[in-house]
Order: sequence, then structure tokens, then C-alpha cells
Amino acid sequence: MTDRLKLQDPRTQYPQPPFAEQPQQPPGLASKLDPTPDHGETSYQGSGKLVGRKALVTGADSGIGRAAAIAYAREGADVAISYLPSEEADASEVVELIKAEGRKAIALPGDVCEEAWCRDLVKQAVDGLGGLDILVINAGRQQFHNEIAEVTTEDFDRTMKTNLYALHWIVQAAEPHLEPGAAVITTSSIQAYEPSAILLDYATTKAGIAAYTKALSKHLIKKGVRANVIAPGPFWTALQPSGGQPDEKVTKFGQQSAFGRPGQPVEIAPFYVLLASQEGSYMTGEVIGVTGGAGIA
Ligand code: NAD
Ligand code: MG
Repeated sequence: MTDRLKLQDPRTQYPQPPFAEQPQQPPGLASKLDPTPDHGETSYQGSGKLVGRKALVTGADSGIGRAAAIAYAREGADVAISYLPSEEADASEVVELIKAEGRKAIALPGDVCEEAWCRDLVKQAVDGLGGLDILVINAGRQQFHNEIAEVTTEDFDRTMKTNLYALHWIVQAAEPHLEPGAAVITTSSIQAYEPSAILLDYATTKAGIAAYTKALSKHLIKKGVRANVIAPGPFWTALQPSGGQPDEKVTKFGQQSAFGRPGQPVEIAPFYVLLASQEGSYMTGEVIGVTGGAGIA
């Protein structure tokens, strides 16, 4: 029996805090995280759930998006990945992992704060993949601020653009290409339901993502397309030590969860697979919490 199938205690299955302080400049690189995150590189095993599907995943160079992209390729999908140009090193690893499955990988570096790029990235994904069946809008900006006054207009604007405007622009560009059976998946957060004081702007966008996706689902189901939201709790990704949390909180990241540790990106990938697959056929407008036991209300 492989380790993956062995009965394991989920509290000790993956690294627990304390972790080292490890500040990075945003957006951060997964390759610099200590401990190394598990995005499924060796642990995710596919079973043909998405054979022949064409997927676009934003923010797929690292973290949750990377885990979704790896899982999609292992399930048989071709995958286009969007990321910031400064993340090329992480992204090229994902491209190689997708290709190693014999699937097509399309790399789309660019800044989703720009409307023109959002529209262009969808076009390039559709042209490169020959269509679009799965759209995962997952790129996100999280920068903590201790005081209200520290959240500048520039900050507020960039968080709104990355987390909300880009969502709208990408959905608008993609919608004409989505055929019955296609699926849209967005990434919200427990922050939509239990906002932290230090994440004023970020938490607002995450609540917005949930509301937007529920409204979107009502449009899309009229053409047989589903849209759902995943709301993660604490996951071990570059988002946190690159300004998402104060350094001293990074050392204890995930300690508050029922598991006493953060989730690893691979532990949320199965939900991105389910919502994209035919097995998720009766799910739309739902928010699925993978919060480490906190729940969403
Ligand atoms: P991550 O840093 O690994 O991924 C976020 C990605 O967003 C980056 O890799 C980057 O490619 C992309 N991105 C950011 N700004 C961009 C821009 N302007 N243009 C293009 N791409 C841009 O971190 P992650 O934790 O995997 O984040 C993925 C999603 O999960 C985010 O929406 C985040 O808000 C959400 N989330 C994360 C956690 C967590 O604890 N890690 C918890 C709840 C929600
Ligand atoms: Mg990244």
C-alpha cells in the first residue's frame, strides 16, 4: 500500500508550526517556502475525471492554483496557466508538470489588474486550447495593514482590481466560449465570513467574490454552465509570507485551525476537480468551505 492510501492522522500528516520567519517581496515564490508546500507534484493521483477538458487557471504558478492545475493535468485536462511575469520560475515548473502528463500547457504571464490583458489572456487560452470548459479564477492579492489609515487608495485599488475587477473582466471574456457542461470556479476565503481587522480590503473582495459568483451562477445555468466558489482557510502558500500576514503570524500559521497546522495546497485540489467534473453536475451557486474545521456561515 502506498503512503497516500495508508490511514493517517490528518493533524500530523503535514508540517505543523512553528515555522521560520521568511519574508518575501509580493507576490512571492513557492520555491522559497520553508517547509516546501505539497501541491501534488508527487502526491496527487488522477483517475481520468477530466479527460480532454480544456482549463484556464489564474494564479496557477504557485499555491492553490498550482495544485488545481497539477490535478487537472493528472485528470487528463489541457491547462492554460496565468501568473505574474516575476513568477516565471514557479510557472515553468508547472508547465513541465503538465507536459509530463502528456497534456498541453499554455503559459500566460501578465498582470490581471489590466483589463486589456484579462481579455487577451482568455483569448490566448481559448485559441491555444481550442476552447474552454473549465475556468478557475484564483489569482489574488493579500497585503495586511495594521491600521485603517495605512490602507491607501492605491492599495485598496490594487486589491479590488486583482481580486474583483479581474474576475469580472475574465468572466466577460470567457462567457461566450463556455458551452453546456462547462464550469467556473472562483476562490473566496474564510475571510469573507470571519474578516480579520488587518485584511480590511482583502476580506471585502473575498465576500464580493462569493456574491459575484452566486449571481453569475444564475446567469450561467440558463446555458447549462455551473459556477461555484471555494472558500479556503489557512493554506501554506507564498501569499502569506509575502505581505499577507505579519512575519510573527507566519511562524504560527495554521495553529488556530482544528488540525493545528495549515492545509497544503494538494488538500484542496480535489474540490477544484469535483466542481469542474461531470460528477459535480448538480452543484452551482455553492460556496464550499475547506477551512480546517472553522466552517463558513
Ligand atoms: P499564491 O500567492 O501562491 O497564489 C496567488 C497567485 O495570484 C500568485 O501566484 C499570482 O500568480 C497571482 N496574482 C496575484 N496578483 C496578480 C496580478 N496582478 N496579475 C496576475 N496574477 C496575479 O497564493 P494562494 O494562497 O495559492 O492564493 C490563491 C487564492 O487563494 C487567492 O485568491 C487567495 O486569496 C486565496 N486564499 C488563500 C488562502 C491561504 O491561506 N493561502 C486562504 C483563503 C483564500
Ligand atoms: Mg505565485
